[in-house]
Amino acid sequence: MKCPYCGEHMNRGIIQGGRFSYKWIAEEENQSSLPKLFSKGIKLTDPLMEHGITAFYCADCEKIVIDLKGKRPSYRT
Ligand SMILES: [Zn+2]
Repeated sequence: MKCPYCGEHMNRGIIQGGRFSYKWIAEEENQSSLPKLFSKGIKLTDPLMEHGITAFYCADCEKIVIDLKGKRPSYRT
């Protein structure tokens, strides 16, 4: 994959999951007083899955890009 910022080759890898799911949560949602465990967002990793999510790293831009195809926010219907 080419870096969308500089156009150079990106290194393919994974973001490893831990005991809990990594989630992307919208800022508004993150500021709510509900426990974060129940907040809606995009689940990036699942502790039940062996591998993490595929991500591409650009060493020049120091950025990681994650393809979220098929992973819609859970608050959308
Ligand atoms: Zn780059």
